[in-house]
Amino acid sequence: MIYDNHNRPITYLRLAVTDRCNLRCFYCMPEEGIKYLPKHQVLTFEEMERLVSVLARLGVHKVRITGGEPFVRSGLMNFMHRLAEIDGLTDLSMTTNGVLTAPHVAELAALGVRSVNLSLDTLDRDRFRKITRRDELPAVLKTLDALLAAGIQTKINAVVMEGQNTQDLIPLTELTRTLPVDVRFIEEMPFNGEGSHYPVLHWTHRRIVDEIRTHFPSLQKLPDPPFSTSANYQIPGHQGTIGVIAAFSRTFCGTCNRIRLTAQGTLKTCLYDNGVLDIRALLRRSNGPSGASDEELTAAFLQAFAHRPANGFEAEQQRSVVTESMATIGG
Ligand code: SAM
Repeated sequence: MIYDNHNRPITYLRLAVTDRCNLRCFYCMPEEGIKYLPKHQVLTFEEMERLVSVLARLGVHKVRITGGEPFVRSGLMNFMHRLAEIDGLTDLSMTTNGVLTAPHVAELAALGVRSVNLSLDTLDRDRFRKITRRDELPAVLKTLDALLAAGIQTKINAVVMEGQNTQDLIPLTELTRTLPVDVRFIEEMPFNGEGSHYPVLHWTHRRIVDEIRTHFPSLQKLPDPPFSTSANYQIPGHQGTIGVIAAFSRTFCGTCNRIRLTAQGTLKTCLYDNGVLDIRALLRRSNGPSGASDEELTAAFLQAFAHRPANGFEAEQQRSVVTESMATIGG
């Protein structure tokens, strides 16, 4: 197991397989004028597979596939099968918006994907269309049904946004009454692809919990699993649970075990950093001996892990203003 310079184990990789998306959530991307990466700048599946193998040998045992929307990249399921074969990888999961996911759920379950995060900010079709700029709520709900029917542990991720979907806090919480889902409410972060001002955070993790507790006074705190980003709760008698993620307040950095690889092969050791290593350049190096060896990749990873910021505030201070979309980072 590898530990960083703050004695945190590095065991979890979030891998963005594309920066493209079939939704246009306003808090993530502008409606138009998105400059997607040209294809040759995106890592190939072979490159990704190699990097995951190198990281698995360093002790990374969990990989979450994300994007952009993973299912807009063709060949995704074939890639998932190859990842499932990697020695040392014991936990393969995915974050998806659910628009194209339903037909693949049985195959995901068969290859051992135990947990899927489904992004769903509202249960109201009009609000869904307004937030995502696409009319795809029925397809997402179909995916939710398919995931539950397949017995895949399903986490619903909802970003809580003033003036947009705060009326959905309680209906989404209500889902936990009869469904074995984890509904997780996320503080909005500044990664909207426009470099505009940081949101004034009206809905902090505390306010979200207070609002739920007003409607469900019996709300109980649950013990949080190690490395959990969410503070977890349950309403007695409900099948599912509730999580609140202080993504902007950054209360969980002290136990952060995760790293991220963007679709273009940039390593991030903190969600808020500016990218700390260009792995694609190493992989595709053409001066000197072409292409880094596994040993060189390992050394580069270890060097990066030895210089992780203590938390998201330190990472943010070390960079210029945030301009990227979450779709390029992977969430
Ligand atoms: N397309 C997939 C999906 O929608 O789940 C995976 C990528 S998406 C960027 C991952 C997660 O990031 C989604 O749950 C999305 O809601 C979240 N996200 C995007 N922009 C965000 C922001 N500005 N603040 C908080 N969460 C954000």
